[in-house]
Amino acid sequence: MNLLKNFKDPALAQKLAAAIADVVGDWTFSIMEVCGGQTHTIYKYRLREMLPPNLRLVSGPGCPVCVTPIEYIDKAVFLGLEKGASIHTFGDLVRVPGTAMNLEQAAAEGADIQPVYSPFQAIIAAKENPDRQVVFLGIGFETTLPGIGLVIQEARKSGLKNFSVLLSAKRVPPVLDALLAGGKAGIDGFITPGHVTAIIGTKAYDNLCKRYNVPMVVGGFEPLDLLAAIHLLSLEMVTNGSGNRNAYSRVVSHEGNLKAQAVLEELFEEKDAELRGLGTIANAGYGIREAYAEFDADRTFDIVTDSREPPGCICGEILCGTQQPTDCPLFGKTCTPDSPVGACMVSNEGACNAAFLYA
Ligand code: SF4
Repeated sequence: MNLLKNFKDPALAQKLAAAIADVVGDWTFSIMEVCGGQTHTIYKYRLREMLPPNLRLVSGPGCPVCVTPIEYIDKAVFLGLEKGASIHTFGDLVRVPGTAMNLEQAAAEGADIQPVYSPFQAIIAAKENPDRQVVFLGIGFETTLPGIGLVIQEARKSGLKNFSVLLSAKRVPPVLDALLAGGKAGIDGFITPGHVTAIIGTKAYDNLCKRYNVPMVVGGFEPLDLLAAIHLLSLEMVTNGSGNRNAYSRVVSHEGNLKAQAVLEELFEEKDAELRGLGTIANAGYGIREAYAEFDADRTFDIVTDSREPPGCICGEILCGTQQPTDCPLFGKTCTPDSPVGACMVSNEGACNAAFLYA
């Protein structure tokens, strides 16, 4: 606890901010923080206000709830209401709007929606209710996927026939590749996500830095973690550098977590994926391998949806870094955390949610 308190030290933060201003001078740069957790810290601790105005911070697509397509919510609602499956999900998904309703509203209509802290709770429910289909909603980036892989392995070991995962898993490097290839938002440097990179290692960005001549620095989630990452990025940007550096070395290594990577390799295969606002990106997702097809809800259920994005929501543009939350005409009016129109207002990793709470 004390250790983390040190990473919030205001005097050290001021020193780092001054060092950043010294390095940046009159240059104008845009930096994207990829992860929604980092966005939350930037708003909460008002880091933008500590930095020179010619250094622009842009929120990126690393909020898992936000990039999950609306069709996914519609599928989960369909499974709960039409197939009578017991839906187990992390809590921040239950209020994400679907086309007709969210999961909270589906529960009011009679669906069995169970918020959980761990996917293993879904396994326990499946064991205790052998006559009921239990579906775990597996969304997220590389951080959460190893845990989902472990529960599928456990389901296989236990011989479960009534457990499956509705998967919508994303991979960060291809998403950054697509952003850079499209030249979107004119980003000069990236703060790569701490938790994801703890799994995949900084090695995952080596090629991107070289190919696009762009610097990347992995950052943590405390104010000093992020300021240190911005300082390293600034040093790279003023020299036109393309270094792939680490400002979160207490958690992240170049190689990443090899055990977690082995689980990903055994259970999942890369596939094209749709991300809200970014469209379909080659190899940006994971699917469940054929060998584990019996645990893939997309294969075991016949799912029918008719999905449409909510009118007026510019979540997609915000996730690309081309618009800010306050650019949305619905922000703070018809769209608030109590009554969200789009996914970016729901999750506490969403840019609209953070802007509403702290800006
Ligand atoms: Fe969508 Fe609401 Fe954000 Fe506007 S404020 S972009 S409606 S989530």
